[in-house]
Amino acid sequence: MLHTASKSSKHSGLMSQVVTRFAPSPTGYLHIGGARTALFSWAYARNKGGKMLLRIEDTDRERSTEAAVIALVDGLKWLGLDWEGEPISQFGRAARHAEVAHELVKMGHAYYCYCSPAELDQMREEARAAGKPPRYNGYWRDRDQSEAPAGIAPVIRIKAPLTGDIVVDDHVQGKVVFKAENLDDFIILRSDGTPTYMHAVVVDDHDMGVTHIIRGDDHLTNAARQIVIYNAMGWTVPEMAHIPLIHGPDGAKLSKRHGALGVEAYRQMGYLPEALRNYLARLGWSHGDDEIFSTDQMIEWFSLEGLNKGAARFDFVKLENINGHYIREADPAYLYDVMLATAAEVGRQVDVDGLGANKDTVLTALPELQPRAKTVLELIDLAQFIYATRPLAIDAAASALLTPDTRAVLKDMAETLRGLNDWSVPEIDAAMRALAEAKGLKLGKLAQPLRAALTGRTVSPGIFEVMVLIGRDESMARLGDQIGAV
Ligand code: GLU
Repeated sequence: MLHTASKSSKHSGLMSQVVTRFAPSPTGYLHIGGARTALFSWAYARNKGGKMLLRIEDTDRERSTEAAVIALVDGLKWLGLDWEGEPISQFGRAARHAEVAHELVKMGHAYYCYCSPAELDQMREEARAAGKPPRYNGYWRDRDQSEAPAGIAPVIRIKAPLTGDIVVDDHVQGKVVFKAENLDDFIILRSDGTPTYMHAVVVDDHDMGVTHIIRGDDHLTNAARQIVIYNAMGWTVPEMAHIPLIHGPDGAKLSKRHGALGVEAYRQMGYLPEALRNYLARLGWSHGDDEIFSTDQMIEWFSLEGLNKGAARFDFVKLENINGHYIREADPAYLYDVMLATAAEVGRQVDVDGLGANKDTVLTALPELQPRAKTVLELIDLAQFIYATRPLAIDAAASALLTPDTRAVLKDMAETLRGLNDWSVPEIDAAMRALAEAKGLKLGKLAQPLRAALTGRTVSPGIFEVMVLIGRDESMARLGDQIGAV
């Protein structure tokens, strides 16, 4: 399913279209940091009327399974992000990477190095002894090929500049200067002919016509090395924006507990993709003080200048609040489908069956439930009074409300309710108020055990609304279950 981009073309000198890319390594899921990088790359391309490409960095053959690629693609699709054309396989472009490496040798910007591992070890030792950082000393840089030992397959090393600065002119980090003397002649092609990651990225980004690279700032030092390759080939260095990584609420590296999960985990926790988009957009990017905005607004407002330099902190409470907002605003028909899909995905088969069998009731109830839920899972729980089957499982808090005394009152209520002509909220309300008054009780004293009996919980929408939603027969039957047949 993966393609290999054709070898292209320098960027046309004309007003070139913005091309961004998302270049994940297939690790088996789309992690939250990757999702944010993809979102920014996508939003920037959209804002500029350009396109985003997807490149799968699948050179690690052990980890790069078809399943891992599918998980990535699914994660992006769920988040509502798209890209132009087919995903491109980095591994599939290995021949092109080798071709460029050899071209660099021909141009005199790279060379074959025949050093054995033992020689490299010795080199590192000598550097260390001299108090220098351990790195390659350029042994084969200017050596004649005629000195090459027989039977040794060489690597190809780039000729990194020996003096001066390499400047990464970054949209987020500003001008970041790397001293050439700190970069050695790094390997671009291994002795087995496979490219190093550093080299493959440059060749791919160039061939794909990428104009803007947005990625985590853990790649900032790679950028300096990559610029060496761009310069050697005479290629235009793309614009770069290295965004600070996401940290946990305590400022430490994001841990699993603090949200370092795949986007599918967020889906399973009941977050809506539009809420996650909104939340992730704010995690490292800002437009004034705006917290809630639509994806269209984000696209309209998105700029590299709005990217923050400080590390973003993941905040589940904020995410929940934003999710709650989107749940409140959502169309019930859409939410209903999400509830079914979520219940199925997290293995709540009973709920799926019940929800499915009660579609109309769930749809009618949803406007009542939406303001009370922060996640789709909470929504499913709140709707349980609709799909629960008799005899209801009564939770501990609700059980505590069902005492001999309150059961006696429930009996009176059942009596009154049975006599009603019209099963409507006003009618039930009036009858219950009259009963409360006759008994000298507050309406709440009546409503709480009633809720416990009819929903098995202590929290639900208005209990009279609940009774109308589930209907007269079901209401009376549930009541009967708690007080003996009525
Ligand atoms: N594959 C790299 C990663 O997942 C990204 C490389 C890049 O964006 O240049 O971190």
